[in-house]
Amino acid sequence: MGKIIFYGFIALLIYWLINYRRPKQKNSESFMDIAEDTVVCNHCGVYLPKKEAINCQNQFFCCQEHRDDHIKSSS
Ligand SMILES: [Zn+2]
Repeated sequence: MGKIIFYGFIALLIYWLINYRRPKQKNSESFMDIAEDTVVCNHCGVYLPKKEAINCQNQFFCCQEHRDDHIKSSS
């Protein structure tokens, strides 16, 4: 019985060590999430956050002016 508790403790320690080392990886993952949320203006090519971009027919623009210019130039 004592051995089971001992090995259980070792397993817990290893589990804790793995989790303790993980935060570094998590930081790079959250950075990737930020990178994924960045879009390029279809008119001028500027990078901006997706939530600030204007979405028009699955195309992103940095401002309404560029969206209008792009629609005018494509039609
Ligand atoms: Zn633009």
